[in-house]
Amino acid sequence: MASRPSTTSPAGGGDIGGKIYYTFSGVTVEFPHKAYPSQVAMMSKIVLSLKRGQNALLESPTGSGKSLALLCAALAWQRHESSPVDLSAADSPPTAASDDEDFMPSKRRRKSTGVERSGRTRIYFGTRTHKQVKQIVRELNKTAYKDTRMAILAGREHTCIHPVVSARPGCDEGCRELNDEKGGRGPGCKFRLGVKKLRNHEALLSKMDCPEGARAWDLEELVRVGREITACPFYASKELVASADLVICPYNYLIEPRIRDGMEISLAGSVVILDEAHNVEDFSRAAASWEITREQLRESMADLEKVETSAGLLAEEYGRLALICSNLCLYMDSEVNSNHDYEDSKTRVTVRFGSEVINSFNQLGVGPEQRWDMSKDLQRVRSDKEKEEKSNTKRKRQMISGATGRMFEDLIHVLHYLSYNQEKGRDDYRVAMVYKKIERGGKETGGNDTKGPGAASSIRGWLRDLSDIPNCQWRCDSLRFWCMSPAVGFEGLKDAVRCLVLTSGTLAPLASFSTELGVKFHQQLEASHVIDKRQVR
Ligand code: SF4
Repeated sequence: MASRPSTTSPAGGGDIGGKIYYTFSGVTVEFPHKAYPSQVAMMSKIVLSLKRGQNALLESPTGSGKSLALLCAALAWQRHESSPVDLSAADSPPTAASDDEDFMPSKRRRKSTGVERSGRTRIYFGTRTHKQVKQIVRELNKTAYKDTRMAILAGREHTCIHPVVSARPGCDEGCRELNDEKGGRGPGCKFRLGVKKLRNHEALLSKMDCPEGARAWDLEELVRVGREITACPFYASKELVASADLVICPYNYLIEPRIRDGMEISLAGSVVILDEAHNVEDFSRAAASWEITREQLRESMADLEKVETSAGLLAEEYGRLALICSNLCLYMDSEVNSNHDYEDSKTRVTVRFGSEVINSFNQLGVGPEQRWDMSKDLQRVRSDKEKEEKSNTKRKRQMISGATGRMFEDLIHVLHYLSYNQEKGRDDYRVAMVYKKIERGGKETGGNDTKGPGAASSIRGWLRDLSDIPNCQWRCDSLRFWCMSPAVGFEGLKDAVRCLVLTSGTLAPLASFSTELGVKFHQQLEASHVIDKRQVR
């Protein structure tokens, strides 16, 4: 049940000097107009959940103004919490209290790791799409909190202003190549050099037309300013996040560990709000799923072997990683004569439970048991690359590509998920091997040349290529890890944050949503409890 706004001054729905205030659990929220009962119920739950550090699952009908309620309540709490009185108090875990209680005992405090330089706990506001980021910025500009130090996260495909790189598909690779991430051979991007001009919120606002003072801005404005002053909006966004109290982005940036790492997002101790969260389950499953092709494995192995010969003391690390690529290929082919779950004239698919493949993976040295060693080897290989790029030597050694590094990162992530929840994660996976028919003496059916950079390119001949075996008709072209449980992909997010607030117009039944995600939501609100008759026409 929603708690009522306080009647003490500034009163619930109170109008002071033309401004509307509501007080929830001791936190005063300024609202741009008289709130609907559904918005009051939302704000009450949000404030309570943020104060207690508890997760909230809030359903409110589309069009009921929930984004405005979310922003006002969360940002009011953020300011309240960062008051000098609050900051002096110690951290302590939340305790149970009734919804209506003015809950803020002086001794309890937020986790320190999520507190930014302003003394405020950072709030990440996740939307479903980039388009919705713009809508949230519009809503934010209607509020008294529009001067919050904010940042928007977006990938290069939305922010790159380099005329050549942005015009090509695969903007990420183009940017990395240009910025010396390929063996120190790139010329560098002049827009990246200009990022210092947009290093902080004040610098950005000074370049924008803001006669009425600080306000929220959207990605298009950032890109426009970036073009005007020759500063890369992608790298500027990363700089702005470092000092932001509010970060807005599509929520897959928060859920997917690969994107989080790439964007250098640390959620530790932060508040995470996911708006329109009804797709979170699909995003979480996708975040924990992965596919690797034979071609990628061959390329990575060739990449590692190429460096191994000149790696000196690190030759073993390169060799071990190359062996992992080879062994994954061996595993892929090992089921070629098994019963198939799907078969037509060109394709066969064999699907195994995660728990069935784990032992084989561990025996081949590519399983969860080896993931720490893999991580260590990858770290050393990457440090080697960094050192080489920074060295002053004229003739630089060839180093591994970014794609090889990312392939291993993804493998390590999926192996981590397979061990999730004391290895129960393996039951949430299906592992599929997709076989393609080999066409002798030419192209394989619907695929690549059978004589690619395979066995012939392997220095130690690790990689067996089934197309070289006379009677073999099929070859596994891809290995797919399908995660069936959203709880697996959501794990990394829920464990790091101070609290999660999920809202949508359709989350019911809340209990099953909570079970699917593996998250306990102490604060809940169902749409049927918050619709006001006046809102229904
Ligand atoms: S640094 Fe920025 S502008 Fe330059 S290529 Fe990369 S993303 Fe594009």
